[in-house]
Amino acid sequence: MSDDVTVIEAPLEAKSPFELRVGVSRNVPESAVRIALATGDMGFLHSFTTGSTVDGPGVRVVAWTSGCMWRCQYCHNPDTWTMTNGIPVTIEKATEELRKYRHGLKVMSGGLTVSGGEPLMQHRFVVKLFAAAKEMGVHTALDTNGYYGDRLSDQELDAIDLVLLDIKTWDSERHRELTGMDVVRTLEFALRLAARRRSMWLRFVLVPGVSDDPEEIAKIASFSAALGNVERVDVLPFHQLGRYKWKQLGMNYTLEHVEPPSPDLLERTVTIFRKAGLTAH
Ligand code: SF4
Repeated sequence: MSDDVTVIEAPLEAKSPFELRVGVSRNVPESAVRIALATGDMGFLHSFTTGSTVDGPGVRVVAWTSGCMWRCQYCHNPDTWTMTNGIPVTIEKATEELRKYRHGLKVMSGGLTVSGGEPLMQHRFVVKLFAAAKEMGVHTALDTNGYYGDRLSDQELDAIDLVLLDIKTWDSERHRELTGMDVVRTLEFALRLAARRRSMWLRFVLVPGVSDDPEEIAKIASFSAALGNVERVDVLPFHQLGRYKWKQLGMNYTLEHVEPPSPDLLERTVTIFRKAGLTAH
């Protein structure tokens, strides 16, 4: 990073991605951001967290990238929408950070997960970080909404051990309402992963009154089962841990009074995926 880049101090490691981080690199010149995106020599990260058991197999280190082009109504981390809310981290620094954990990750059958935000906003950095992880013998997982899946070449895609693909809802119009974007590119990416026989876990966020329509869920389940590469489905219950971020950012949060799903709704949803022949939790 050049000397004229001013960064507000924030530790790279966070206790959880629910720490609010804003404007950390707002003084980074646009030209530096452009170079970072073009080369992947520097990425913008909300944080690194350790010890996750829900973001891929085993125990994971998670690199949370900043920058997302979607606007999901239920987003838990809206501070990650803006790339310059993240810490500028050179690829060397990110690799060094990962190296600290490499032995433990192998012992605990875990690995590195890159999540966000949307990691593929910074696909060159992600590809470089995954290559560094593979050199250390560390398992890699990409948590993505799939929208920019076509930024990865076949070779880059095939080098990733596991893709955690988030499908938010099935109906196109509903999807636009919920995320601001169309679902088609996500589904196309799922089909490409299947065609290349890449390991995939499906992630589905269950929000009462928003994404709990059983017919919609059944369509996602049947599409996913037909792919043939979905090893597991994680139904993620909506929670309110990110609500305070919306408030502090002065954003209009429409799910203020939505409760997490009941155990019964959760079980019924998991059952829909299981009935389609998928392993679901
Ligand atoms: S895709 Fe993920 S990070 Fe982006 S708005 Fe939706 S939930 Fe938030």
